[in-house]
Amino acid sequence: MAETASVEVLSEWIREFARVVAATKDQLNALDAAIGDGDHGTNLDRGLAVAVSVLDANPAGIVGTLFDQLGQTVINKTGGATGPLFGTFFRRLGAAVGDTQDLNSAGLAAGLRAGLEGVVARGRAEAGDKTMYDALAPAVYALPAEGDLCVQLRTAFAAAESGCHATIPMLARKGRASYLGERSVGHQDPGATSVVLLFQAAARVMC
Ligand code: ADP
Ligand code: MG
Repeated sequence: MAETASVEVLSEWIREFARVVAATKDQLNALDAAIGDGDHGTNLDRGLAVAVSVLDANPAGIVGTLFDQLGQTVINKTGGATGPLFGTFFRRLGAAVGDTQDLNSAGLAAGLRAGLEGVVARGRAEAGDKTMYDALAPAVYALPAEGDLCVQLRTAFAAAESGCHATIPMLARKGRASYLGERSVGHQDPGATSVVLLFQAAARVMC
């Protein structure tokens, strides 16, 4: 049972996310090739590879700084729609968490909610548009407001997985996939898939 996570643990979450994305890059590209331009895995892998190298540039061990630097690097290095969306998610999470050396469960819940609001502010996606929002919003809303971090993150992971699966029959209304109209139906959204990997990595590291 743990109700707080140190900067070291949170850094390990991001390292694990980067490892999982690197290992899944080809599948993410294949999902994006079906309804986009086939670069989603390459984009995210490129940004996260640089991001993990700057994780240690945080000598005071402040959680807000960790996520702010992560978000800035993801925005600058990732490219595609993914860079600004994931980057804003991490920056808003960092701003909400602020000047603390340990993230507690209530802070995680509030931070993830702020991150989701950032994604909406950037991309204007709504439920059912077939985007990363359709995995992220269910995860953020399902996550208990406080308590054991492992329970929070396993709950979020499960909700992200079912949200992601639910993108398959959706018709895309945002991003590149929306250009396909009806032909976007029947494919899983790549960005929603990456959100599942984010929570999978969190649950692995914090359980
Ligand atoms: P690009 O479409 O520029 O090639 P990526 O392939 O890296 O960028 O990312 C595509 C993913 O971005 C989609 O699968 C979708 O989840 C997400 N996305 C696109 N537009 C939006 C938006 N307006 N709001 C939220 N997510 C979006
Ligand atoms: Mg793409």
